[in-house]
Amino acid sequence: MHIPKRYGQSRVDMCPFCRKHATSMNSQKVPVCQSHKKETLGDLKCACGSTLDMLHGKFGVFFSCMKCGNMNLKKVMELNAIKPAAGDFKGDGTTQNSRQAGKIMITVRSDDPRYFD
Ligand SMILES: [Zn+2]
Ligand SMILES: [Zn+2]
Repeated sequence: MHIPKRYGQSRVDMCPFCRKHATSMNSQKVPVCQSHKKETLGDLKCACGSTLDMLHGKFGVFFSCMKCGNMNLKKVMELNAIKPAAGDFKGDGTTQNSRQAGKIMITVRSDDPRYFD
């Protein structure tokens, strides 16, 4: 898949599901990480309680409230607890998942003798 590099823009997109650096897009054109590209955003609410409409503009996805107007994804992420519906590390990419798991999961096991040195 071709992911265009946007050197002109300084903003860094975050995955709304895990707040990691978004390197992909889901079916809604929302920037997401590789683990969550099959996830979609459900009903998102504005601070006023109205349901937000998802729109796509020149700079990507944004949201619109009937009462309050437009707001960006970052703001919507602050207002909504966005969680992946299917959970983490599910789906096809086995190699990718294990690669990610190796990077993120730094666990110290109590049965590791080095821990007690
Ligand atoms: Zn993610
Ligand atoms: Zn509103």
